[in-house]
Amino acid sequence: MRTALRVRQVANALNLSTAAGLLLAAGSRTPVERGPDGLLLGTGYRPPLPLAGAFTVGNVIFYRADRAFIDSRPELLGHEAGHATQYAWCLGLPFLPLYAACAAYSWWHTGDPGSRNFFERNAGLAAGGYRELPTIVRRPALRNLTHRT
Ligand SMILES: [Zn+2]
Repeated sequence: MRTALRVRQVANALNLSTAAGLLLAAGSRTPVERGPDGLLLGTGYRPPLPLAGAFTVGNVIFYRADRAFIDSRPELLGHEAGHATQYAWCLGLPFLPLYAACAAYSWWHTGDPGSRNFFERNAGLAAGGYRELPTIVRRPALRNLTHRT
């Protein structure tokens, strides 16, 4: 394993985000197996939230699908691995509110939580199943609201 990936693995162990991922796996009865680059892969995740086919907590990547799907979508694994790296940079669970703020920003500007989300763009928009969407122009509507006479 490359040194940077080992550092990510150790960082996410120390900042307890991987532990939080394993706790979520245990609580949701999601089986976890070893993946590449120090990642752990949860398959068959069933709870309704989050509304995503795949998501990451620390070095644990959750999929609603099975291992065959994971192996057939290496670009998605690479995208989720990018989120694991982001957890390390955010010192663990602070990733979650930062991600939520960026998703809200993106939603406000495009109507989609990923298109202008820094974390999704950094991990690879297309690989994560997101599209580049045009910005929604809201200023005229806001101006009308604030300048009523
Ligand atoms: Zn993503």
